[in-house]
Amino acid sequence: MSEELQLMAEQLLSMAERLRAHVEAFAGFGSRYWSAPGFLEAIEYAERQFHGWGYATRRQPFEVGTVAPRTCCNLIAEQLPRIEGSEEPSLPEILVAAHLDSIAPDAMQGGPAPGADDNASGCALVLETARACSAAGFTGRIRFVLFGAEEVGLFGSEAYVGAMFRRERKALREVWVLDQVGLNTRPEPTLKLEGYRGRSGKLMNRVEEKSASAGLETVRTYKPYGSDHMPFLRARIPTLLLIQPDDEDDPHNHTERDTPDRLDYDYMARIARLLAAILREKF
Ligand SMILES: [Zn+2]
Repeated sequence: MSEELQLMAEQLLSMAERLRAHVEAFAGFGSRYWSAPGFLEAIEYAERQFHGWGYATRRQPFEVGTVAPRTCCNLIAEQLPRIEGSEEPSLPEILVAAHLDSIAPDAMQGGPAPGADDNASGCALVLETARACSAAGFTGRIRFVLFGAEEVGLFGSEAYVGAMFRRERKALREVWVLDQVGLNTRPEPTLKLEGYRGRSGKLMNRVEEKSASAGLETVRTYKPYGSDHMPFLRARIPTLLLIQPDDEDDPHNHTERDTPDRLDYDYMARIARLLAAILREKF
């Protein structure tokens, strides 16, 4: 093995280990059902990580349910510079996001919902992307968001898009959503790109340009549904969902058996490498 390849292999390994640590921490809270105590523990865990890398965070509250609404929150992290000559922070052009909440049959009654693949995997990748951007100084135009209450009806992402004012919406150029990115079921590590042909096509092209260098194959689907990309797509914001292929076929999804031991951390490290390569181009 050449020295360069050796170095790349070592970097992948340590990335895989860091991703595993985040997934184990998130799953270790027992349940991240939106109203469970573990959801807030997971928010606090993510806040500590973001703060350690120099990000400011805030919680964006929103209500879930109509009859007896209760409050949940999204977590927003950024290190946006001030607009010149103003106290105002500049507006983010790039969003990297994943839902933090989980679900399982008994979750509403306090049962376990470890949600390792769905979606500690996506959250771990958001965290490690934030870490990598901070280390490289690529933080000026990016915001990282962990959504709440996706599993009960996309409440967090709907609330996020609904709260965006016009200038903010105009500034936002691209949204990357990660959901279920821990299990590769294909012979070659493969990532599914989900969005609309028009609104997501350019982001799909960018992923495909970089995917080989990250050791990933890609497949496209133009029938997006069911995750946090939808509210952004409906608002006509260029958005792409990155998801494992065959995500619908996992028998352990949304059960107490979605545990960290099942995940392929080398696969996830490749996705981390891909995201870093894509974002690096923007700076
Ligand atoms: Zn999910």
